[in-house]
Amino acid sequence: MKVPFLDIKLQNEPLRDEIRTAMESVIDSSAFAGGPFVEAFEEKFATYCGTRYAVGVSNGTDALWLALLALDIGPGDEVITVPNTFMATAEAITYCGARPVFVDIDESTYTMDPEGLREAITPRTRAIIPVHLFGQPADMDPILEIARERGLRVVEDAAQAHGAAYKGRIAGSMGDAGCFSFYPGKNLGAFGEAGAVVTSNEELRDKLRVLRDHGQICKYHHTMVGWNCRMDGIQAAVLEVKLRHLESGNERRRAVAAQYERELEGVPGVVLPVASPSMRHVYHIYAIRTAERNEVIRGLAQQGVGTGIHYPIPVHLQEAYRDLGYGRGVFPRAERCAEELISLPMFPELSGQQISHVAQTLKEAVCAGMIA
Ligand SMILES: *Cc1c(COP(=O)(O)O)cnc(C)c1O
Repeated sequence: MKVPFLDIKLQNEPLRDEIRTAMESVIDSSAFAGGPFVEAFEEKFATYCGTRYAVGVSNGTDALWLALLALDIGPGDEVITVPNTFMATAEAITYCGARPVFVDIDESTYTMDPEGLREAITPRTRAIIPVHLFGQPADMDPILEIARERGLRVVEDAAQAHGAAYKGRIAGSMGDAGCFSFYPGKNLGAFGEAGAVVTSNEELRDKLRVLRDHGQICKYHHTMVGWNCRMDGIQAAVLEVKLRHLESGNERRRAVAAQYERELEGVPGVVLPVASPSMRHVYHIYAIRTAERNEVIRGLAQQGVGTGIHYPIPVHLQEAYRDLGYGRGVFPRAERCAEELISLPMFPELSGQQISHVAQTLKEAVCAGMIA
């Protein structure tokens, strides 16, 4: 049985007619760059996230970058984040001219360790970017508390957490700004590149709108130097359709995770994701841990099961960030995760039979790995 790691076609196929109609209205109105389709999506996405505003932008990386710029983060500043994330989180900090500072993670949730955060703060620290990794919110209460005490800004990297919740609060709505990616494989995915920043701060919203459009306050009147980070009308129209199906997709992801958990519980040498009852984990990624990673990946591949690794090299050990001066061993928990995590197939359309096939094959591969 073939079980791909991800199958976006299966998700889009039933929506084809709805999406085609939405795209045709963009063609009919020629509202291709920014415009009414983007505004309509922004309003619906803000409502979904429980914030007053959303600002549609070109991708998730730009969402993070603009959010930091709008908060006046710049050269000489330090921004604290985690090393087990996609490179973009750190890149956004670098683009502002600020310095990324990493802290280790909690080893059960794979998100920022608030104690590590407290210790990493210096007089130069200006902001914190907790990453809601794999679809599970970071432990936001202590993070927000530390930020309040020390006068720091909080930008949530919610690129993997559309619709996730922490104690009833939606991911992206807890900090000064929440940043989303709509890269095609995300829980809410466009037909190309797109992203958004959500916030309830009106001043921040205004600044983001100006920054994404060349610093224009109105046509050809530039109050600051911005960039071109607008969202496409076509992407907004597609996203508006897909947003209507996000909740059912997330619920289905949670059901897939529940079945994995039932079938994999107690398998020796396999650590399953830990979802705290106060969280709504939306399983962008379903990652397990095992010391026998290579054997397990090989065993799964032989039985037609696709896997991924998120992420094999933590950001502090990337060659691009050699100059930051972090060596191996500084963040032992993040480094161990980078060596042991395997992402199993996870998307709403997986069948019960496919999930069982993955679980069964995984058990066999782990046993074989332990004997070898
Ligand atoms: C996908 C992702 C991003 C970047 O989003 P793009 O739309 O690809 O630019 C940033 N952070 C995390 C954690 C991501 O998963």
